Amino acid sequence: MTNHLLDVQDLHVSFDTHAGEVQAVRGVSFWLDAGETLSIVGESGCGKSVTIQTIMKLLPSPPSQIKSGAITYQGTDITHLSDKAMESYRGKEFSMIFQDSMTSLNPTMRVGRQMCEGILRHQRVSRQEAQQISAELLGQVGLPNPELVAKRYPHTMSGGQRQRVMIAMAMACNPKILFADEPTTALDVTIQAQVLDLIREMKEKMNSSVIMITHDLGVVASLCDRILIMYGGKIVESGSDREIFYDPKHPYTRGLLQCVHNPEKKEKLKPIAGSPPDLLKPPAGCPFVDRCPEAMKVCKLYMPEVTTYSATHQCACWLEEANRRKG
Ligand code: SF4
Repeated sequence: MTNHLLDVQDLHVSFDTHAGEVQAVRGVSFWLDAGETLSIVGESGCGKSVTIQTIMKLLPSPPSQIKSGAITYQGTDITHLSDKAMESYRGKEFSMIFQDSMTSLNPTMRVGRQMCEGILRHQRVSRQEAQQISAELLGQVGLPNPELVAKRYPHTMSGGQRQRVMIAMAMACNPKILFADEPTTALDVTIQAQVLDLIREMKEKMNSSVIMITHDLGVVASLCDRILIMYGGKIVESGSDREIFYDPKHPYTRGLLQCVHNPEKKEKLKPIAGSPPDLLKPPAGCPFVDRCPEAMKVCKLYMPEVTTYSATHQCACWLEEANRRKG
């Protein structure tokens, strides 16, 4: 039995499409402890959103299907829980902040009423108490005049205000795990920083854990305890923030770091050439082989073995084996 708050083991998730089986997640394993902030970083289509939406049971099945693996939450196997059974987890145990607040909020309902619905579903309170809790939360996320904000419709608010409402809604039932799927992508840079600070502040206040998904390593620099780098449906490197930023092992991680803008260095950003693999026909060997500047013959033929550098730092790359042979 696992002692972790959330434990995902060898998760495989596929989509049945007209063209064939898309293997979106291919053997992903990770854990999350209470109070921890974990980030999953990778390009679009690498499987990060599918991983967390599978945990939350937000993907319709079919076409999605958990092929194998296990998801354990507080020692209970929730891998194949029905949608109905999962309703008692969503909102109360797990909550989600989506990327696009405009399409995630109901445009026909005032934001206060949307918040009250979630609170009434999971807490034994009257409607009046739910309204009070909503107003308090809207105030806590930094929206002035929360009673008035509660009466507004989403389209009358700015992107930053809507994202604050989403955070207030996500925290309304004091979830144990907050999933944040690219929560700052649609916002400008100054609002991004405010929203990240707010997520950190609310996490501390509510004593929650956070899993943050992003394609931008710069976003997670000061926020996360551990980082998972995903590529081609797999975790190619995992480590603490220091290990990933100061001692990256995988060529893809190094490529992502070269794409992070650093105003102190006047170097040009270096994009990673090429595009991710087609997961309808995933490569037999390393998924990064077609874009890797250090690729070898073995990389195309066999999946790289995982090398462990510390209790938190692991990397799946043949370079380590090649260096050992040379050494
Ligand atoms: Fe590059 Fe080979 Fe390492 Fe893959 S296994 S990242 S292709 S060196």
